[in-house]
Amino acid sequence: MRTVITGGAGFVGSHLCERLIADGHEVICVDNLITGSERNLAGLEREPRFTFLRHDVSEPLFLEGPVDNVLHFASPASPADYLAYPIPTLKVGSLGTHNALGLAKAKEARFLLASTSEVYGDPEVHPQREDYWGHVNPVGPRGCYDEAKRFAEAITMAYHRYHGVRTRIVRIFNTYGPRMRLNDGRVLPAFMGQVLRNEPLTVYGQGQQTRSFCYVDDLVEGIVRLLMTDYAEPVNLGNPSEITVLELAREILELVPESKSTIVFRDLPQDDPKRRRPDISRARQVLGWEPKIDRADGLRRTLAYFRQAVGVGTPDAARS
Ligand code: NAD
Ligand code: UDP
Repeated sequence: MRTVITGGAGFVGSHLCERLIADGHEVICVDNLITGSERNLAGLEREPRFTFLRHDVSEPLFLEGPVDNVLHFASPASPADYLAYPIPTLKVGSLGTHNALGLAKAKEARFLLASTSEVYGDPEVHPQREDYWGHVNPVGPRGCYDEAKRFAEAITMAYHRYHGVRTRIVRIFNTYGPRMRLNDGRVLPAFMGQVLRNEPLTVYGQGQQTRSFCYVDDLVEGIVRLLMTDYAEPVNLGNPSEITVLELAREILELVPESKSTIVFRDLPQDDPKRRRPDISRARQVLGWEPKIDRADGLRRTLAYFRQAVGVGTPDAARS
């Protein structure tokens, strides 16, 4: 199997590269490093079946030789990142997806799109099932990401229906784990960085909004299963264990009892979804998949990574 992963130097993409190499694939990672880093690929440096290609997939992509799978993961994903790069986000979701689909079509490869729970916007249906069409503000700050991904889904289905490309769409719900960027603005790295530096945890709004956090290894397992099925409709992948942001802050504080951090409240960003939890019935049925790593375990593993990233063993060391 020869597999192209766009966005492979990012958080999820780098775990996927490692998993597919372990499964025996030849992997070509295509990334322009806008939010990713070659450091995420350090473990693959000496791997002869791995190639890194620095390229912006919003520009056409031509590769020599056969390709069996194209996994399109390139896109800023953190709200802070896509607010900083709204136009590259719209381009990679639209032009980038078109180019990645064109590559899959030319090579008669399978194609898998990394879509998102953001296609449901600020949902009026809870939990979110794949047949819910969503509640998205196209002209709000999150519109650049949400609408790019909705377009990406639409063009993926068009290539499937019109060109017969074997496509898959995964709607990823909040996923976390090692290699998230400490300063990417997402809630988990934000809180972990803060607790390790004895800074206050910045809870937006009253912290009553909910999310459901999936550990990255569980997500990667679901993606690999989906790739190998013959199922073109979107599939939610995420952990249905739902928690408020305030509860998450408290759980993270409890993980580091020696921390001097407190909780402070900040303005809630515009259009911040109020509730989010995946209905994973389809993934259970089609893939026989469900998450295995609970939040307590996943948070411990992730904290161990962030302790290294902050460069400290304990919060006291962080201050010295
Ligand atoms: P990330 O920012 O760590 O990774 C994205 C990668 O894409 C980065 O390496 C970046 O440099 C690369 N990239 C962006 N634009 C590019 C372009 N034009 N050309 C080439 N490379 C480009 O984010 P992540 O969390 O790993 O997300 C990966 C994918 O999964 C994204 O498509 C995202 O929308 C999707 N997703 C992630 C989550 C999550 O919770 N992590 C949730 C929903 C969807
Ligand atoms: N959030 C927060 N404090 C932070 C960062 C985020 O309270 O320092 C909240 C944010 O308002 C949202 C939730 O945490 O309600 C998840 O935000 P994130 O940026 O991780 O991703 P989202 O799920 O909104 O895409």
